[in-house]
Amino acid sequence: MKEIRTRYAPSPTGYLHIGGARTALFNYLFAKHNNGKFIFRLEDTDVSRNVPGGEESQLNNLAWLKIIPDESPINPNEKYGKYRQTEKLARYNEIIEKMIQDKTAYIAFDSSSELEQQRKEQEAKGIMSFRYDRNWLKISDEEKEKRLKNKEYSIRVSLPKNKVYSWNDLVRGNISVNTDEIGDWVIQKSDGYPTYNFAVVVDDHDMEITHVFRGEEHITNTPKQLAIYDLLNWEHPSFGHLTIITNMEGKKLSKRDASLSQFIEDYKNDGYVPDAIFNFLALLGWTSEDAKELMSIEELIEKFDYRRLSKSPSKFDINKMNWFSKQYMKKEKNEDLIQKINFSKNHDIVWKNLFVETYKQNCCNIKEMNESLIIYNQELEPIKNENNKIINEFINQLKSKDFTIENIQEAINKTKEITNTSGKELFMTIRKATTNLEHGPELAKTIFLFGKEKIYYRLGIKHED
Ligand code: GLU
Repeated sequence: MKEIRTRYAPSPTGYLHIGGARTALFNYLFAKHNNGKFIFRLEDTDVSRNVPGGEESQLNNLAWLKIIPDESPINPNEKYGKYRQTEKLARYNEIIEKMIQDKTAYIAFDSSSELEQQRKEQEAKGIMSFRYDRNWLKISDEEKEKRLKNKEYSIRVSLPKNKVYSWNDLVRGNISVNTDEIGDWVIQKSDGYPTYNFAVVVDDHDMEITHVFRGEEHITNTPKQLAIYDLLNWEHPSFGHLTIITNMEGKKLSKRDASLSQFIEDYKNDGYVPDAIFNFLALLGWTSEDAKELMSIEELIEKFDYRRLSKSPSKFDINKMNWFSKQYMKKEKNEDLIQKINFSKNHDIVWKNLFVETYKQNCCNIKEMNESLIIYNQELEPIKNENNKIINEFINQLKSKDFTIENIQEAINKTKEITNTSGKELFMTIRKATTNLEHGPELAKTIFLFGKEKIYYRLGIKHED
């Protein structure tokens, strides 16, 4: 059987976006589920849009998510050619030459104003979408030679008339498009660079890609690509078009929407657990048959079935993602977390350990843990004694014993018993009185983390009491 080969082919125009990461992830899961290869390559021919470090940042962010390509520009397999399009121009030219000779492509000399003129004429005739007219196919060789010397030109594919291209989309089922709806499109621009729809076919062919999962914005590109496969007599891969990701209001995620972090880099910088993001992304448009949600990378690979990819848009719910991250945070090793947190010098290892053990139950990332640490580096002001019966009893209980977590817990329990208050009121009152906070993780541990000095000072307990 043929080896399964999938790929993720970003343009190095910026950081790794949630949408791109999800596309990479589904291609990765599909390949790994089938013991195949996952390839990373670069579509960098739109040179003016490339950003320095774009490729590296994409690869680093994927690696952080534990999506490691089997082949990439930095780990190429020579057999499949180059992994950056800008390094393959000779290869594209070779194919274009062949197509021109076979008369499946031709040189077109229109200037942009001539194209504009054609467009207007068609509009005047009531033709809604622009069809390129093929006048350049009719010119004499002599005229062509003359023009080649002193005019800009592009290369267009010569599409067969009234031919239907169809594919069985891995996500959406059968889709067909007639070539008359497409028109001869440009395969090589006047600057000599190939267009996306042409280069992607050469790349997928050269790299023996068997399956392509990509965003639904590429559905209209697929018939154009199928035409090239057909004209070159090449076998085409299977295509699956993923649905869009929306925000909670159902609008397509826009990179410009600043209200939501949309770049993997942001989550990495905030110290999320990468496995949690991997797990969360896998469920953005896919479900496991048993409806299980928390799954390790290995389990996701084992269970991934492309037939369960969703046909409707998926909502990006940051609360759900934070919930996932919390579940993973709890499982992190204390010693690993300790390395990542900005402890000050006066915290010893016992204290650090208790801090991470307590806060990993409640935080979804390292940033939140660092923020939780701030209060422990500050002084606590003494409370105003309002003669509250809960606080008074708690002080009574607390000062009668050594300052240990067990004894603090015991003091809380006794106070509850004696004052006969509900859990909620009890906890809120004691938390505010001791730590000056409304919310937090386990109360006894939080109080203990402040230390006897600060808590006694805050509650007005004298040491000799
Ligand atoms: N560079 C294209 C994109 O990022 C890749 C399209 C494809 O997968 O064919 O959308």
